[in-house]
Amino acid sequence: MTDTLSSKNLAFKFAQLDKRGRRALDSLAPRPQDLCSTNPQSEPVMESKTSALTDSVIAELPTIKGSDVAVVFDRAREIGKAWAATDIRERKRLVLSFVDTLLKEYEAVLDIIQWENGKNRGSAYEEVYDVAMNSRYYALHAERILRSKSVAGAVPVLTKTQINFVPKGVVGIISPWNYPLTLAASDAIAAIMAGNSIVLKPDSQTPFSALAIKALMERAGLPRNLFQVVIGSGRELGGPMIENANYIMFTGSSQTGRTIARQSGEKLIGFSAELGGKNAMIIRADAPVERAAAGAVKACFSSSGQLCISMERIYIHKDIWDRFVPAFLKRVKEMKLEASMDWKADIGPLINDAQVEKVAEHINDAVAKGAKVLAGGHLVPEVSNRAFLPTVLTDVTPDMKVFGEETFGPLVSLYKVDSDEQALSLVNATNYGLNSAIWSDDLKIAQSMAIRVEAGTVNINDGYAAAWGSIHAPSGGFKDSGLSHRHGVEGLVKYTDVQTVATQRLMHIGAPKWLGEKAWAKVLHTYLRAQRRFDL
Ligand code: NAP
Repeated sequence: MTDTLSSKNLAFKFAQLDKRGRRALDSLAPRPQDLCSTNPQSEPVMESKTSALTDSVIAELPTIKGSDVAVVFDRAREIGKAWAATDIRERKRLVLSFVDTLLKEYEAVLDIIQWENGKNRGSAYEEVYDVAMNSRYYALHAERILRSKSVAGAVPVLTKTQINFVPKGVVGIISPWNYPLTLAASDAIAAIMAGNSIVLKPDSQTPFSALAIKALMERAGLPRNLFQVVIGSGRELGGPMIENANYIMFTGSSQTGRTIARQSGEKLIGFSAELGGKNAMIIRADAPVERAAAGAVKACFSSSGQLCISMERIYIHKDIWDRFVPAFLKRVKEMKLEASMDWKADIGPLINDAQVEKVAEHINDAVAKGAKVLAGGHLVPEVSNRAFLPTVLTDVTPDMKVFGEETFGPLVSLYKVDSDEQALSLVNATNYGLNSAIWSDDLKIAQSMAIRVEAGTVNINDGYAAAWGSIHAPSGGFKDSGLSHRHGVEGLVKYTDVQTVATQRLMHIGAPKWLGEKAWAKVLHTYLRAQRRFDL
C-alpha cells in the first residue's frame, strides 16, 4: 500500500483560526502520511470539518471507501505481529513515554478537543486526565494481569495447567464525538498493551483528537501505524471493519450498538459496547444539601450534558426538596455559558444542530404537556447558535419524551419522591442501566441501596467521577447500556484470547489397560466421594 496524499490535499484553512488554534494544529497537525489513503488510482474524497466552537472550517480531510478498509487492516495485521512479539516491558516503556508526551502537549490537545467538539476547557481537561490515568494504569498493570497463570490441573500433581493470554490481532474501534480524545485513546491503549494493533474510526465530526493521539503515540516512539485512523461514515466503514477485525470495541448509541452486535455475532468475533443511558441520581432526605447541589450540577452539565454518564433524572426526597431545589437552581443559573477556550467557561455550545433540535424538542414536548421550566430552556444566540442554557424541568410525566428517552444534552428533570423505595423503583424503571448516584449522610444505607440499582456504576456522594475515575474497577452498562467493560482487569483481558495449556506427566488420563474401565470408574468414584467428604 502506498500513501498517496500530498500536503496540498490537506488544504488547511487557517484564515479564520485564532493564534492559539493555529499553534495547536501546527504542533499536532495530521501529516499527509498519517491519513489512510489506500487507492493510488483515485483522488481521495475530501470532507470539510467545521469547528463546533467557532463554526469555522478547520480543515479538509480525506475519507476512505468501505472497499479500501481491508488494505488498512492488512497493514495493521503485519504491524501487529511484530508488536505482539514485543516484550511487555518494552510496551510499558513506550506507553509511559506516550503519557509523558501527552502531558507535555496537553494545552494543544485541549485546544483541539474544544475546537472540534465545542465543550468547555475544564471538561476537555477531564479527557486528558482520563487518557493519562488509563494509559498509566494499563502500562503499570498489564504485565501482572496478562502474565501466564498456573492453576490446579485435571489430576493433582500430574497435570500442570497454565492459562495464557494471546492478543486478538487487530482491534477495530468505533468511537463517538462526545469524548473524542478519551474514547479514541483509552480503549486503544488497553488493546495495545495487550499486544494488538488498532484501526480506529472516530466519529466523522471529531477526527482531529484521534489524529492528535496518533501523532503523540508515534512521537513517543510507538511503532508507526500501530494505531491507524480511518475517516468516513460509520454506515459505510462499519461493515468492512467488522469483516476484517478480530475484535470490535464500540462506543455510541444503543441503536448503532445493536447493528454492530448483529454483524459481529455473524462474524463470531468478540464485541464490546458502551452505549446510551438515562442516568438517575437519588437525593435522600439526609443528603448534604450544598455538596449534593454542587455535585449534581457537575453531574448534569459537564461537557454540556453530552456525557454518556451524566445525570438526566434526579429523584429528591420530599423532606429535602425545599432545600435542595433552590440550592441546585442557584448554581445552575450561575453557570457561565461561553464559546471560548477560556478556563472560566462552565459550559460550551453543543456539537451540532441535530443535538440542539433534540434538546429543544424534549423541552417543547414536555412544556406542551404540562412540565415547568425552572431554569434555562433556550438558546443564547449571542454566544453561539448552538449555545443552549443548562435547563431544569419539573412536573415531568411518563407521556413526555424527556421522561424515558436519552436527551444527551444540558437538560435534567427533577422528581419529588416519598421514600427511598419509590426512588429506587423509579430509577430502575428504564431499559438503560449505565450510571447512577445516591447522595446521603448514611453511607451504610446508601451502599445497601446501591446494590439494588440496575446500573453498571453507582456513585455514592458523587455524580460520576468517583466510579469513572476508579480505573482499577470495571465500568460498563447493564441492560441496553452495553456489553462487556472498559477499565480494570476486564478492560484488558477482553482484548486477548484466553488459552489453556495442560501438560500431563507420567501417565495419560484414562483407564489403565491392566485395571479395566469398571475398576477405573470405581477409583474415580471413590475420589469424588472423598472430595465431598473432606471438602477437598
Ligand atoms: P452513534 O450514532 O451510534 O455514532 C457513534 C459512532 O458510530 C460514530 O463513529 C459513527 O460514525 C458510528 N456509526 C454510526 N452508524 C454506524 C453503523 N451502522 N455501523 C458502524 N458504525 C456506525 O452515536 P451518537 O449518537 O453520535 O453518540 C452519542 C451516543 O453515544 C449516546 O447515546 C451516548 O450515551 C453514547 N455514548 C456512550 C458512552 C459509554 O461509555 N457508554 C460514551 C459516549 C457516548 P459516523 O457518525 O461518523 O457516521
